[in-house]
Amino acid sequence: MSRYYTYNQHLQDKYGAKTYKLPVNLLLTCPNRDGVLSTGGCAYCGSKGASFEEASVTSVKEQLLEIKEPIANKYKAEKFIAYFQNFTNTYLPLEELKDNVAQALEVEGIVELAFATRPDCINKEYLEAMLAVIEQQAPETNLTLELGLQTANYHILKSINRGHTLAEFIDAVLTAREYGVGVGVHLILNLPGDSREDAIENAKLLSALQVDNVKLHALYIREDTRFGELYQQGKLDLISLEEYIERVILFLEHLDPQIAVQRLLGKAPREGSLFVNWGYDYWTVHNRILDELEKRNIEQGQKFDYLQGKALTKFS
Ligand code: SF4
Repeated sequence: MSRYYTYNQHLQDKYGAKTYKLPVNLLLTCPNRDGVLSTGGCAYCGSKGASFEEASVTSVKEQLLEIKEPIANKYKAEKFIAYFQNFTNTYLPLEELKDNVAQALEVEGIVELAFATRPDCINKEYLEAMLAVIEQQAPETNLTLELGLQTANYHILKSINRGHTLAEFIDAVLTAREYGVGVGVHLILNLPGDSREDAIENAKLLSALQVDNVKLHALYIREDTRFGELYQQGKLDLISLEEYIERVILFLEHLDPQIAVQRLLGKAPREGSLFVNWGYDYWTVHNRILDELEKRNIEQGQKFDYLQGKALTKFS
């Protein structure tokens, strides 16, 4: 029995079958890199964007068909989510986006489309258009946005050059909610300057907004980034693995138990990276977090009692 609500369990509950993500990598860019907002990108973002896998030039449908069988066989998956994962997947002309949606819907077994994107790259017009294609082609299919927030600390959002604020993130979540679109959120719990209080505030924010799922990342440092430069100059303060584990625990304790957790930390390539998960492999860190949750008897949502006018309990 897991001590937090895993994404796998969430998908099983939602779709009644083993459901897996099929990654789609497109040749895209991002307004924080192409000059619309800035050319530098986020301080941690390498030239390949948020994903380290090579983007493919093959079509959406071809990519999905190619990967579907191997994933089905390996994980005994019966249903699938088309996951548009790298860079900013709604940052393209509307017709192109609609075509991507349409292609994904042509693949049998797809029950959900998930688009990783920035909070400032979604609006009502785009959502309505995407939903219209779904309605026409496969109305049972769900649409989810995976929004990069990284931290609720708006001072840190500025210092890492995210190019959007906390308010824009909240606006994107509320807009998605208005249309019945699911929301996942990506967070980095160890951004330089962030604290344990920020980890808690992240959990409180996502709980108050009732998002569907969250993916946690530990910051990794790529060579070709602003953080890479600072790291090589010895000017980047990174917290220890023990402190990261404390923050994950605090985050989980304060997170609404109904919000699914996709990951407790991210994966990153060693090549071209200066710092990845304190030199440990993904599973070692993952299992250390699980051990600590077990040892301290901690479960997700143990401290989730701060909403609904908590202070008024004095009078009841
Ligand atoms: S928003 Fe994503 S793709 Fe764009 S610069 Fe930041 S991390 Fe990179």
